[in-house]
Amino acid sequence: VVVIKHVSKQYKTGTLALSDVSLSMQNGEFVTLLGPSGCGKSTILRLVAGLEPPSAGTVNAPAVSQRKQHSTAFVFQEHTLMPWASVFDNVWLPLRLQGYGKREVQVKVMSALRSVGLEEFANAYPAQLSGGMKMRASIARALITDPELLLMDEPFAALDDMTRQKLNDDLLRWQQERSVATLFVTHNIAEAVFLSQRVLVMQARPGKIIEEIKIDQPYPRTAEFRTSLSFLHYC
Ligand code: ATP
Ligand code: MG
Repeated sequence: VVVIKHVSKQYKTGTLALSDVSLSMQNGEFVTLLGPSGCGKSTILRLVAGLEPPSAGTVNAPAVSQRKQHSTAFVFQEHTLMPWASVFDNVWLPLRLQGYGKREVQVKVMSALRSVGLEEFANAYPAQLSGGMKMRASIARALITDPELLLMDEPFAALDDMTRQKLNDDLLRWQQERSVATLFVTHNIAEAVFLSQRVLVMQARPGKIIEEIKIDQPYPRTAEFRTSLSFLHYC
């Protein structure tokens, strides 16, 4: 679903954000980019989302080919819900942009809200939700169009540990139910190992992938699942 070959990215300011990065993802695969601040994780997501062109190399992903524009969804660290619209209307938005009326999608939106545990908050406004609930609503909105690819840029970084752990458990469950290819970004090693089938470890200056780690533990994973010692030297 994603193939990146020998991509470099130099911003106009001269910063070489990425140097010779290659990666590919299979349908339904969960891959995490792990690495220090400034190593180019968000830059990779923006290239895959088609928001930035590469300076060299090629990017093939659903968002980059026009025809499949709606099959990539993006979830950012800060929720991007519209404050003036209800939770229902926020989740409806991507379908509304595709021309679907509110009645038509009532069942679908409510079922998405149920799957993220927000069924009772359909008529609430974002300001009435906790941080974790806002993130759940953002995820429901991202998944409502059944994307081929989900891009998540440090989605849980602003949440407290317990909320984060709960969302990790839930994300793993949603992933098992839907198996949407997901390119996930985090600084958190335990989170990377818990969620992913593959972890790509990056370095900064210039941004590169320096190691690929396959997580062999078969599903279902348990909350006790812990990082292996080999990860500790990346701390
Ligand atoms: P963090 O973990 O802090 O989010 P990151 O791994 O996501 O970092 P990027 O945001 O991709 O890193 O940035 C990689 C490099 O490119 C950094 O040196 C950054 O300063 C630079 N950079 C990112 N966006 C731009 C931009 N729009 N213009 C110029 N330089 C940029
Ligand atoms: Mg970033």
